[in-house]
Amino acid sequence: MPRRHCQSFYAILAAAFLSLAPITSIAAPPLPRPAPRPADFAFIDTSIENGSPLHWDFAPDGSILVSLQYDHERDSPNRAAGHWHFRLEGKPGSSHTLVFQNFLNVWNGTSGLPVDARTACLLSDDGHTWRSEKMELVEQRVRLRVTLGPTGSLYVARVEPYRLSDLEKLLARIRPHPLVALSVIGRTVEDRPLEIIRIGRESAPHRVFLRARAHPWEPGGNWVIEGLVAAVLADTPAARAHLDHVAYYILPLANKDGVARGRTRFNLRGVDLNRGWDKPPSPELCPENHALEQWLAAMNARGLRPHLALELHNDNNGKLHVSRPAVPQLATYLENMKRLEALLRQHTWFTEGSTGATNHNPGTLGSGWLERFGITAAVLEFNAHWIAGKQKAPLGADWQEFGRALPAVFTDYFPSRAAP
Ligand SMILES: [Zn+2]
Repeated sequence: MPRRHCQSFYAILAAAFLSLAPITSIAAPPLPRPAPRPADFAFIDTSIENGSPLHWDFAPDGSILVSLQYDHERDSPNRAAGHWHFRLEGKPGSSHTLVFQNFLNVWNGTSGLPVDARTACLLSDDGHTWRSEKMELVEQRVRLRVTLGPTGSLYVARVEPYRLSDLEKLLARIRPHPLVALSVIGRTVEDRPLEIIRIGRESAPHRVFLRARAHPWEPGGNWVIEGLVAAVLADTPAARAHLDHVAYYILPLANKDGVARGRTRFNLRGVDLNRGWDKPPSPELCPENHALEQWLAAMNARGLRPHLALELHNDNNGKLHVSRPAVPQLATYLENMKRLEALLRQHTWFTEGSTGATNHNPGTLGSGWLERFGITAAVLEFNAHWIAGKQKAPLGADWQEFGRALPAVFTDYFPSRAAP
């Protein structure tokens, strides 16, 4: 049928349908009345650096409903919301109840909650000095009662934030050091530079690779790196001797765009940067991982492959994730992981242990680098809610303390030299 006839046929059909439809069926229902604004509450400001995108509303009981926004994974049912970071503003000294919702995450195709009865919230008057407050778990929500300080505002975050500006301060501090070399290995989806920090000499007999922040809500690894960097660059004979023994290669902010935008898990094209390492990463969909793969290939070609690679994360368990791909050197790898776990227990506050004997999570950096490059690699998680070895909720200072103890772990892990 010619297009002209086709259009007129449907126009006649639509007109006939509308003429038959009762008027009442197209009347809009009345709109709900908005809940009143709680007294003394002014605003939630998410424009701060690393501020989380969210929607907020008022509940009839006077509390403020904070609805996190989900990140979605490409070609997948997976979604994640768990990061919150914003500035709450109101009348000085006023009290408010915040109820956080939208925690129905999907990981590896299975529903799960990123919060539990131990979930704490971090509060700060200035955005830099933080304290931990207990939250109350209510069904699939967490509730928090806060009192605004003398300025009438309070910074609120899930975990102690580590922002792009914090990395810039670290880089400015260490750049002049003769044993520090910075290289830009590529760019993110939004064209941010991805830096690898080398600390120590290329000629050092042992090489450790560390990556943090594949998942933007998880700043623990950055605080660990801050502690480690301070320890190895301390101007002491022990620190200098350590850098004769080990060189560090650190990618501190793997998912810079996600951190800048206050996102939870994926990169801006919906890729999980701690998945897909069982094959070469796509330069279009995850330029962040592609850049790292190119860097690793160049290091391999120069005979500078890392001897140990740790991918740093936060979760609710804090374990060393030992994967088990079918590789010929699996027994040696598992033996090395057992030694690493024992040394973490010996030198740091780590008590959480390793994942069980059936654990195999293909595609993580730990598993993929072992499988494809034969590198001794693992994911190391830090419990975001609770440090069992210190019996407290974690702050950035606790993770820095862990990082300061890591050189002793690596000195013993590569046993050709005494610990500093
Ligand atoms: Zn993670």
